[in-house]
Amino acid sequence: MNLELTGKVALVTAASRGLGQAVAMQLAQEGAAVAICARHPADLQAAAARIEQATKGTILAVAADVSLPQDVERLVQTTLDRWGRIDVLVTNAGGPPPGRFVDLQPEDWEAATQLTLMSAVHLCYAVVPTMREQHSGSIVAITSISVKQPLPNLILSNSVRLAVVGLVKTLSDELAPDGIRVNAVCPGWTRTERVEQLLADRAARSGATAEEEAAGITAAIPLGRMAIPEELARAVAFLASPAASYITGVSLLVDGGMYRGAM
Ligand code: NAD
Repeated sequence: MNLELTGKVALVTAASRGLGQAVAMQLAQEGAAVAICARHPADLQAAAARIEQATKGTILAVAADVSLPQDVERLVQTTLDRWGRIDVLVTNAGGPPPGRFVDLQPEDWEAATQLTLMSAVHLCYAVVPTMREQHSGSIVAITSISVKQPLPNLILSNSVRLAVVGLVKTLSDELAPDGIRVNAVCPGWTRTERVEQLLADRAARSGATAEEEAAGITAAIPLGRMAIPEELARAVAFLASPAASYITGVSLLVDGGMYRGAM
């Protein structure tokens, strides 16, 4: 299947490693020119170099913190100055911190809202006018399995990501007449650097090994393993692409069957 991404322009945020980097890599592999951002210039430039080397694609790296509206504005403007259009927007950010209700304060909720919800809101405000002028575009929000099945010790993610799903579903309706599709992808356990760190932390606390901690988690996953980032990235690339031309407003789980509900 041809995803018809050759010559398209994509913007993928929070892409110096992990899921964001894998998505940028996949889109570049499919022939898109890709703008990426992360907060730390050195890590970002290193990611851009890795993607360019692996794909021979064209990468624009812009240091930006997606929780800051002025950074989002500058990121989108820099991409438009370079390529004059944006066909694909993939919203991604670091995860909000773990914790239970009693461990957290209202300020933690406000910070999580800025990072997880308002980053996507500001990105959409910055990109949608251009997509409306183009009368085409595709937005994919990276959320989490937690929007289907709340996860223990992650009340911020469980709560704030649901607002992102509300945004996606509503925008898919409002922007369909402009030829813009809006979808979400919900990763389950995916072995990124963040998850490796998490497993190491759990192991240090429990006295088990990181692989024993991973085995405890994968026992609840029907496919019997965690995903690799490329598996999430392929789903994002498909939904982002013209190959998914009749799909809008969906939240696609990429979780190895971990979510047990029927719908
Ligand atoms: P990661 O920590 O490996 O990578 C996060 C990336 O985001 C890094 O490039 C980091 O530099 C960048 N970043 C963080 N905060 C940023 C900010 N404010 N502005 C710009 N860039 C920023 O994480 P990951 O595993 O790739 O996860 C990506 C997202 O997906 C997170 O929100 C995470 O909670 C969510 N998620 C991950 C998994 C998983 O199993 N990996 C599962 C469900 C949801």
